[in-house]
Formats: sequence, C-alpha cells, structure tokens
Amino acid sequence: MVHNFNAGPSILPQEVLQQASEAILNFNNSGLSILEIGHRTPLFQDVLDEARSLVKEIMALNDTHEVLFLHGGASTQFMQVPYNLLNDGATAAYVDTGIWGVKAVKEAKLFGNVEVVASSKDQNYNYIPKGFEVPKDAAYIHITTNNTVEGTQYQQFPGWDVPLVADMSSDIFSRQLNFNQFDLIYAGAQKNMGPAGVNLLVVNTEILGKTNQQIPTLLDYRNHIKEGSMLNTPPVFAILVSMLTLRWIKKMGGLAAMEALNDQKAELFYNTLDALPIFNPVVAKEDRSKMNATFNIYNAEKEKLFLDVCKAEGLYGVKGHRSVGGFRVSMYNALPVSSVEVLCAVMRDFAEKHG
Ligand SMILES: *Cc1c(COP(=O)(O)O)cnc(C)c1O
Repeated sequence: MVHNFNAGPSILPQEVLQQASEAILNFNNSGLSILEIGHRTPLFQDVLDEARSLVKEIMALNDTHEVLFLHGGASTQFMQVPYNLLNDGATAAYVDTGIWGVKAVKEAKLFGNVEVVASSKDQNYNYIPKGFEVPKDAAYIHITTNNTVEGTQYQQFPGWDVPLVADMSSDIFSRQLNFNQFDLIYAGAQKNMGPAGVNLLVVNTEILGKTNQQIPTLLDYRNHIKEGSMLNTPPVFAILVSMLTLRWIKKMGGLAAMEALNDQKAELFYNTLDALPIFNPVVAKEDRSKMNATFNIYNAEKEKLFLDVCKAEGLYGVKGHRSVGGFRVSMYNALPVSSVEVLCAVMRDFAEKHG
C-alpha cells in the first residue's frame, strides 16, 4: 500500500487513471486511441467543450470570464500575464510570498515596472502578508494563493481596487471561493487537476486589450479566446485527463465536497503535528496551507531517520523542497483521508521512539 504525498506531479483519483488508460487504447469505443485522433475531430472537440464548461460550472464563473487550456505550464504565465496586461512604463503590483512569486516578479520586470507591495521574505516566507496598500494606478496585483514550497496559503482576499491576478497552481479546485473576484487565474494542471503539460487559464475579458505592445500570436490571450482554446494543437491527453478529473470533482459534490475533505485532512494532520513536540511546525498557524504542509524536526540529526521510516511505511513524497529542506506533505483532492491517518500514526510512533 502506497500513500502519495508528492507535491507535483501528484496524486490523481484512481478511477480517473483507469479511464485515462482505457482512452489510450480505445477512446469512447471509436477503436482509436485518444493519442491518434485529430484535435479538430468531434471526438476531441467534445472533450475540450466539456472540460471548459465543467470549469465554468464548478467555479460558478460569470459570462465575463473565459476558460482556456494552454501550453507551457504555470511558469509560462509568469511572462504571458505581463505580456498581455502590462504596458512599458506602467506598474504592476506583486506580493512576494515565496519561490514562485519571485520567479513571477523576475519575468514581469521584462515588460514594465514592478512594485513588490508586500513580502514575507523577512521571516523565510512563513506567513502571508496582510494589510498592505496597492497603488491605485497599478495595472494589476499578482498573488500566489498557495505557496507550494513554503506551505502558506491565503485564507482571505480583502479585495484591492485593481485587477486581481492569481497563480492558483497548487490549490485550484480545493475550496469554495468567489472566483469572479479574480480577473485572471492560472494553474498548471499537475498539482490538483491532471497530468503535466497543460495550464488552466480563467480570464475576465474586460481586462484584455488595454496595452499597446505587439503580442506574438500564440501568446495573446485574445487569439486563444477567439479560436475557442484551439489556436494550435492543444495538449490533447492532458486536457482529457483534466476533464476526467473535473467530472470526478463534480460527481463527488463539487468544491463544497472537496473543501470538506481537505479541511478534514488538514485538521487531522495539523492536530497531530501540534501535539508532537519533536516536530517543528514552521508556518504561522493562521496561514497554514491545507494543500502543502511543511514542517521539520528539532533534532536535525533525526531528519534522515524520519524519511527512512516514511519510505519503509510506503509514504511517498515527504521530503521538503530542495530549496528549504525539512518535510512537506501534499494533501491534494485525490489523497484519501486514510493516507493522512497512516502518516499521523507513523509520526506518533516516531515521536514515541525518538522524542
Ligand atoms: C508548480 C508551480 C508552478 C510552476 O509550474 P510549472 O507548470 O512547472 O511551470 C508555479 N506556481 C506554483 C504556485 C506552483 O506550485
């Protein structure tokens, strides 16, 4: 029995994997593989249409918001967002909450001025900054809703008076939010939605077309919208698996059900963590991520021992990101509560033997 706490690519529902494997051999009883049919055939068009409409439905998006499936992973959006939204000479506001946000800032600087309006770097990114001001003339504000590496997550969005852009790669579809308050959301699929190779983009069309720079065809969101997210050959298999995952989310009861499950797992895990003094919970309590929990061990010499024990018990992906060390357990939608129960039992047992 394995328990998959990988941060990304990461766990997907078993039934989705089963359906995806069937689609590779014989897609919808066509006698053909999903990998060997044209992307403009009705067979695939139906997949894309269903994927886009499931996103709209599950997120309860207004008609102002368009849904696209794009190439390039979330990192491409670090560049594509300012390309579409930031004029030379204009300013964009960024909140610096960790490694991914830093990369986003670096790319935006190629297009205009960047003002980092808040940062939690002063405390190793172990909290989410609050109560900061955003210049009224900023082209947009960019935040990272869940910090995959550091283990922090926004619990509230106070609302700023400029367009709100969010990197939601690692907590997309994990909880109920008013998604219409975001003007642009992007998420690489491989954390909570599907396999690597596709990027979900939700954009309020009202914020587009306001810059005057020339945008290469493939990078201009408006072209993708015009062509129904089929400007060129889309990553068909990654979109299919994402669509199957979206079907699974809907069948399970949508985001209300995902949130309830994720709350249950997070509560179980953090209660255990807080009860075991051998472990050090590094993140400020009110900003703890329900997707990626980071922690370490006070006695650093025991770190490797704990990882060995986890490995022996079939717990995968417990090692922290190479840039921060320690431990990280990712508890995405598809991770069963029982896996968290096993992890907690292993932690309690370890604390008893080595505490
Ligand atoms: C994983 C991740 C990224 C990078 O995604 P790629 O698809 O590898 O480019 C960006 N932002 C966040 C928050 C992530 O978790």
